[in-house]
Amino acid sequence: MAKLLIVEDEPTLRNVLTTNMRNEGYEVHSVGDGSEALELARSELPDLCLLDVMLPGLDGLSLCRILRKESDAAIILLTARGAEMDRVIGLETGADDYVMKPFSMPELTARVRAALRRSSRRQSDKIRFGDIEVDLAARMVHRSGEQLKLSYKEYELLATLLRNKGVVLTRDFLLAQVWGYDYDGDPRTLDVHVRWLREKIEQDASSPLIVQTVRGVGYRVV
Ligand code: CA
Repeated sequence: MAKLLIVEDEPTLRNVLTTNMRNEGYEVHSVGDGSEALELARSELPDLCLLDVMLPGLDGLSLCRILRKESDAAIILLTARGAEMDRVIGLETGADDYVMKPFSMPELTARVRAALRRSSRRQSDKIRFGDIEVDLAARMVHRSGEQLKLSYKEYELLATLLRNKGVVLTRDFLLAQVWGYDYDGDPRTLDVHVRWLREKIEQDASSPLIVQTVRGVGYRVV
């Protein structure tokens, strides 16, 4: 069951939204103040946030930018026509979608469903390990939000280890996966690449916490 956070300061609309989304089968948390919404988002980790733009505390656009940096939650802005609408369209907020007030419930639920579908697809393409995030679709690796530059083989090695998290992968398996089944070069090339990879992803490459050596067998990520 997807978890929704509804942030709307107008009590009647907030209640209508909450009731409707619960009827749609979502777990719903709702709040009327932007600052409280941020706390709630941090503790509840919703899959999707419906954010009214004009809010007391912290406005919806600022909230949207903070949430976008901190989470993978889908975000739909609820906006009134006019100047507010222009700001939503004109600014880079990171929102997935916006809905103009007044809106119909069937329209909003359709947008919610679509945004949840897109974000679950996005998340399944990512593997996280501590502060390391591997985006399999984009072949990119980030540590604490900063992009790491890995070579082709280093990336393949890391992705193979992370896909098999907790499993000890033998040297032969890794050589076959990353270098190909017909690889007949120096098997120490694997160790050299593990060393390079550690230098890029580990805080301290001399006492690695991510890629661990299993003596006489191979490597694993725990
Ligand atoms: Ca409002």
